[in-house]
Amino acid sequence: MPGLIVGSFVPDIEVPVLWLFGGGLPDHLILHSIIGVLTIGVLVSVLVTRFLYAPAISALFGIERAKLESACATSYVLIGSCLLGLFGHLLLDLPMHPYNPLLWPWVNPNAIVGILVILFAQGGNIESGFAAANQLVSVVMLVPLLAIVIKHRHVLWSSLWLDETRK
Ligand SMILES: [Zn+2]
Repeated sequence: MPGLIVGSFVPDIEVPVLWLFGGGLPDHLILHSIIGVLTIGVLVSVLVTRFLYAPAISALFGIERAKLESACATSYVLIGSCLLGLFGHLLLDLPMHPYNPLLWPWVNPNAIVGILVILFAQGGNIESGFAAANQLVSVVMLVPLLAIVIKHRHVLWSSLWLDETRK
C-alpha cells in the first residue's frame, strides 16, 4: 500500500517543477512518460517510500512508526507496488488530458489526445473538453474513495496508509 500510494502521486511532482523551470515546456513531461516512470519515477518512488513515508505518515496520522517502516522495507514487492501506482497514474491521466507524453521523447505529447477530451470538446474546443473530462474522472474516482472511507471508517488511517484492515 505505501508503494502504491507514493507511486500514484510521484508523476505530478514534476508539474510545479516544470511550471517554475520548464521554459515553455508542458507541465507533464518526463514523469508522465513510460521511460520516465521506468527510470526516475520508480527510483524517486522507492526512495520516498523507504525514507519519507514512515516518518511523515507517523507524524501526521499517529500510526506506529515501526509498523510503517516494516511495510516500507525495500523489496521487489515495494518496487512492483511503486510501478503499479506510477502506471496507474499514467492510465488515469491518459483519457482526460489534451496531451500525453506517454511515449516521450519519441512521440510528440500533442499527438496523443485523451479520448474523453475529444468526446467533450464542443465545437473542437480542447480547453472545454479537458475541463469536462477532468471533472468526470474526478467524480468517477470519488466513488471508490467514498466506498473505501465508509467500509473502513473504524480503522481508516491504518487501513488507508498501511492496508491493515483486519483489526
Ligand atoms: Zn498526472
